[in-house]
Amino acid sequence: MDLKKAAALDEKDELAAFRSEFYLKKDTIYLDGNSLGLLSKRAEAALLTILDAWKEFGIDGWTQGENPWYYLSETLGAQSAFLIGAKPEEVVVTGSTTVNLHQLVSSFFHPKKNRTKILADELNFPSDIYALQSQLSLKGLDPDVHLVKAKSTNGHTLEEDEIIGCMTEEIALVVLPTVLYRSGQLLDIEKLTKAAHERGILIGFDGCHSVGAVPHEFHSWGVDFAYWCNYKYLNGGPGASAGLFVHEKHLGKLPGLSGWFGSNKESQFDMQHVFTPADSAGAYQIGTPHIFSSAPLAASLQIFKEASLLSIRKKSLNMTRIMMDLIDSELSGFAFSIVNPPEDNRRGGHVALLHPEAARICKALKQAGVVPDYRLPNIIRLAPVALYTSYEEIWRTIQILKDIMREKRYEQYDNKREVIA
Ligand SMILES: *Cc1c(COP(=O)(O)O)cnc(C)c1O
Repeated sequence: MDLKKAAALDEKDELAAFRSEFYLKKDTIYLDGNSLGLLSKRAEAALLTILDAWKEFGIDGWTQGENPWYYLSETLGAQSAFLIGAKPEEVVVTGSTTVNLHQLVSSFFHPKKNRTKILADELNFPSDIYALQSQLSLKGLDPDVHLVKAKSTNGHTLEEDEIIGCMTEEIALVVLPTVLYRSGQLLDIEKLTKAAHERGILIGFDGCHSVGAVPHEFHSWGVDFAYWCNYKYLNGGPGASAGLFVHEKHLGKLPGLSGWFGSNKESQFDMQHVFTPADSAGAYQIGTPHIFSSAPLAASLQIFKEASLLSIRKKSLNMTRIMMDLIDSELSGFAFSIVNPPEDNRRGGHVALLHPEAARICKALKQAGVVPDYRLPNIIRLAPVALYTSYEEIWRTIQILKDIMREKRYEQYDNKREVIA
C-alpha cells in the first residue's frame, strides 16, 4: 500500500464521518485507543448535561432530568447489550473491571469437595490474577495450589486445546480474557465455553480488550459471566464505570457481594434489613453508582450503535491487516516480529510488535507524533481504532517508524519503561 491507496481507502470508508466527532490532536497519530479511548464531542456534551442536572435538580436528579441517575446503570447496561450479544437485563454498567471480577468470583466460585481450583492463564492481566489470588485466599485456599494457569508455548499466545486440557475435575471456575492484552490474540470463546460446560465448570471472560472492537454472542454461547472496562475501545473516559454481564440462567440469585444498589429498585428505599436482589444483572451492583464516570458512555454507545459493530470490526480487521502488511514490506531487516495471530478470527484490535528496543522505540515514536503503547518486556502495541483512525495515518505511522529505525533515533532514549507503560 502507498499513500495514494491509503487516501482512496479513506475516501470510501463508510465510518470516515465519525472521525470528526472525536478530539484528535493536530499532527498526532493516536494508536492507543485500546488503553484509553479518545473523547468524542457527544460524550463531552453528555457529561456536561449530567453536571447541569446536578446544578438544576440537586437530589431530584436521581429521578428527574434527561438521564435519571437512579436508573442510569441499568439503562447503560441495556444500551451496552448489543456489544456483547446479550439481553438487556443481563448487563449492567457499574464499578470497575477489577471490582466486577471480585463480585463475579464471589458469586460464581463455590469450591466443593475436590473441585476447588480456578483456571486462568499465565498471560493473564495482573489485576485479574491478583483478584483471583485474593478470592482463593478468602476461601482459605492457597493460591499457589488452587490457581491453575494454562501455559503458553511461545510466551505470546495460547492454544484453546491446551486450556481445555487444563479443565480437569478439580476446576470449579475458568476465568480467561476474550482478547489477550499484550499479543491481541482473540480466543475462541464459544469453544472454550462449550468445553467448560461439558465438564461441569463455570466460565467467565474479561472483555477489556475486545468489547467495542470485536462483536460477541455471550448469551447464545452460554457464557456464564463477563466483565470489561468502558474506557478503552468504548471511549467512556478515564475510570469510566465498567460493564458486567451475567447470563440469564443465573439471574435471580443472591450475589456474592451484596449492597443496596443491587436491590430490586422498587424495594430499595423500603430500607429493610432483608436484601431483595434485583432480578436482573443490576443485582450485582454494590453501592451508589459513579454518575459522572458513567455519563459519557451513554453518548459513546450511541456512536457505536450508529456505526454498527460489524462495520467497526470489518474496518478494524482491514486496518490491522494493512498495518501488518506494511510492517512486513517496509520494516524488514529491523528485527521486528509480529506476535499477534495473523488470522482474522484470532486477532483482536491491535498489532503487537516485538522488538528488543521496544521501550525506546516507543519513546521515539511519541516524540515523532505517534502515540503507541509499550508493554513489558518488549512489545509495542499499535491500535488503529475504527471510529477515528484513518488509513493514511497507518501508512504514515509505518513511514515514521521506518525513519526512526533507519536513523536509529531511538538510541537517544533509555530502553526503560515510564511509570505508566
Ligand atoms: C485494562 C484492563 C483491566 C483494568 O482493570 P481496572 O479495574 O479497570 O483497572 C483489567 N483486565 C484487563 C485484561 C485489562 O486490559
